[in-house]
Amino acid sequence: MNVTGLRVLVTGGGSGIGRYLVERLVSDGAEVAVLELDQEKCVALSAAFPGKVQAWPCDVSDAEAVDATLQSITDSGFEPDALINNAGIIHSEPLVNMLSRGDRAHSRTNWQRVMAADLDSVFFVTSRVVDRMMAKRKKGVVISISSISANGNPGQSAYSAAKAGVNALTKTWAKELGALGFRFAAIAPGFIDTPSTRSALSDSTIERLQSQIPLRKLGDPESVYFAARHILENDYLTGTIVEVDGGLVL
Ligand code: NAD
Repeated sequence: MNVTGLRVLVTGGGSGIGRYLVERLVSDGAEVAVLELDQEKCVALSAAFPGKVQAWPCDVSDAEAVDATLQSITDSGFEPDALINNAGIIHSEPLVNMLSRGDRAHSRTNWQRVMAADLDSVFFVTSRVVDRMMAKRKKGVVISISSISANGNPGQSAYSAAKAGVNALTKTWAKELGALGFRFAAIAPGFIDTPSTRSALSDSTIERLQSQIPLRKLGDPESVYFAARHILENDYLTGTIVEVDGGLVL
């Protein structure tokens, strides 16, 4: 599959890794549609890449919103060849907060919020997009952005479980739909240098992390794009979780 001329649907393309993927896909000749929660980011994207990117406001954890928006995208004449499930939220919370005077156990609301944004969304969007591709007799590629936290990261119960679920879906769908020519892969980044990483972690935490990463630095968003491009272009790759982590093992 050649990136030039490819039509790619990217979720959460309004900032961070997703925004970078959109930018690089466009500069390599792809046409991109984005599903993005934040309306202002949608306006900014369409303005930044006129005629190359159409950005649709949509909460990908809401199955009905996904159905309605995918229908609008189809009606606009955009039929994706590839999907990148990138939208997600990073959340850290201990299973039991021993220092809390109130509820000590992990909030159920936070658990459900993270599972909806990071796992349900991948299930909703992929099932609908693959269904549409099948109806058009296309053989598509689906890349989901997972995380090395899928291996189990202390203090990230919901996030780790959601990303482990993403890896399991990737392997399941690769086996289920390989015979029809569909390919599925995930990218599991370690710590990538994005504004959300910089605002979530203090400078001292970043310094400590860097000393634990064998390559001694955070990853560039470009490293995630190189992995995505490799997955798109390599027609014999499926069911794989590509780790992009500078050698960090959790
Ligand atoms: P980010 O917060 O910078 O960007 C996420 C984008 O997704 C935002 O534009 C946000 O508005 C959008 N979004 C969130 N929930 C959405 C929803 N329900 N519907 C539609 N859009 C939604 O985050 P990021 O750091 O770029 O992370 C992107 C992906 O990469 C996530 O899946 C994250 O888990 C994964 N990841 C990031 C890192 C990292 O170091 N940044 C590491 C490992 C994995």
